[in-house]
Amino acid sequence: MTTDNPTLDTPTPTSLKAADAPIEQEPIVMLGSPMAIVDGVSFSSGDNWINWAKTLSAQPERLFYPNTLEDLQVIIREATENKKKVRCVGNGHSWSGTAVTHDYMVSINGMNKIEKPIQRENGEWTVTIEMGVEVEELDDFLRKHDPPLALASNVMPNDIRYGGILTMGCHGAGLDGRTVSDTLTEITIVNAYGELHIYSEADDPEAFNIASINLGLLGIVYTATLKIIPMSNYRLRAIDSYESLADYFEGPRAGLKLKEMVERNDSMEIMYWPHKAFLGTEKNDRFWLKQWRRTLDPAEDLEKLKDQAPTVDHPGFATFKVGEIVKEIPDGVHFDVTQDNDEAKFYDASAGFKLAPDFSNFVECFNDLVEKNYAFSTSEFPSRIGTCLEVRFIKASRKMMSFVYDGEDEEAIYCMINVLGATQTPGFVEYSQGILGGWMDKYNAKPHWAKLWEQIPGVIPALRREYEDRLAVLNRVRKTQDPFDMFVNDTWRLLLE
Ligand SMILES: Cc1cc2nc3c(=O)[nH]c(=O)nc-3n(C[C@H](O)[C@H](O)[C@H](O)COP(=O)(O)OP(=O)(O)OC[C@H]3O[C@@H](n4cnc5c(N)ncnc54)[C@H](O)[C@@H]3O)c2cc1C
Repeated sequence: MTTDNPTLDTPTPTSLKAADAPIEQEPIVMLGSPMAIVDGVSFSSGDNWINWAKTLSAQPERLFYPNTLEDLQVIIREATENKKKVRCVGNGHSWSGTAVTHDYMVSINGMNKIEKPIQRENGEWTVTIEMGVEVEELDDFLRKHDPPLALASNVMPNDIRYGGILTMGCHGAGLDGRTVSDTLTEITIVNAYGELHIYSEADDPEAFNIASINLGLLGIVYTATLKIIPMSNYRLRAIDSYESLADYFEGPRAGLKLKEMVERNDSMEIMYWPHKAFLGTEKNDRFWLKQWRRTLDPAEDLEKLKDQAPTVDHPGFATFKVGEIVKEIPDGVHFDVTQDNDEAKFYDASAGFKLAPDFSNFVECFNDLVEKNYAFSTSEFPSRIGTCLEVRFIKASRKMMSFVYDGEDEEAIYCMINVLGATQTPGFVEYSQGILGGWMDKYNAKPHWAKLWEQIPGVIPALRREYEDRLAVLNRVRKTQDPFDMFVNDTWRLLLE
């Protein structure tokens, strides 16, 4: 195998800057060099690409801007002729180096066609989309359809592209939503020969399973067909409350009480920040609880809670209001976080593990995390105020490369716990990676592929051990599509070889 960076002998991307030194440039792409064109496909050379969080950068030899399937095939031909690596990039919302290459980077943002939804004989609806489609674009398109349609569960923000969501196995807060890849019925990928390969359950279940969460390792994903539901099936009652930690996380029935809530809700999310008052040092004894329940009640005015005073004085959560409001599915699934100024940029390290029947391992883990997070956030106060914990609960994924795959129990419930910190927080990378490493040892947790995981001490041998059989299947399928390792960058090389 060749490598993007021959000097790299640890899984740490060289482009990952220290946590206290975020990259001082505009995010995503710095267009500096003139555009060139090869067979109708435009590209720039030597531009500086930066991810959303401004924690990763790369100077790809060529950054391509394709619009059609034929464009993708031209890029593969060029890469073959010039022996180059190829990685795609969407909106750069990942914290791991998965999109990074110094060879050919392919911006899929111009590939955003959406086909007319189809209703199958069994009544189920599907929609086929290209991979540059953003969450909000598809929501708006489906909402205008007759009848209005929606994805039942999805990632939280509106500005993420489906190429990133599906290849990385991303998820929302819907318990039955599992991962978005679990809703796929077909996916098409241009492989290292420039051929379009169509994957479906009926044709080849094993290859389809791998293609559904493929980590960008089978080629450039061209289209995906997703299951969707009529919006008239139900709406979501979003219930926000600011609860006492002791009421939910102490006592012998704590886990069972949480489990009952998780099972009663369509979706549930927990958020916790360490200090009672912003710029105070007193430990917070409350957490934010978001519950979404299915209802047939009509949707309410989205402005309903707007004029209510903020419940908490933390600037990151000023939009959070205690109360209830009924929303249409896509409005309930997403909520806005302030993203656009540098102070609001954050790191996210996230991992999932299977919950014990009484959720006792989650209660233990969360209580321990609250203590550790408070200690971390208070020891260099106020430079570490910007940390937050976030939890969602989802059923196991059926996709082998998912971090919540469960070959034995498809109905098992997993928690995904996110440890978040402002990118200026000193020591956050080491802190969060140590936490995740501890969960891998104690709870057999697996890190979210798109988030911060490459700096977890000993992560590669641990993942190779845990994913051993699944990596063998991935490699078997991969070698039929990419025998030259064209799509393997440093993030994946050590895991695969
Ligand atoms: C504010 C914020 C909130 C988030 N919320 C959630 C959440 O709720 N749930 C969750 O699971 N994740 C969440 N994430 C993580 C995010 O969903 C993932 O990082 C996702 O992969 C980002 O998509 P993107 O369009 O930015 O892709 P990028 O980060 O640019 O790319 C991600 C990966 O997808 C690959 N890729 C993209 N398109 C293609 C293609 N056509 N063919 C092959 N490979 C391709 C890239 O090569 C790369 O490996 C969040 C991130 C941020 C910054």
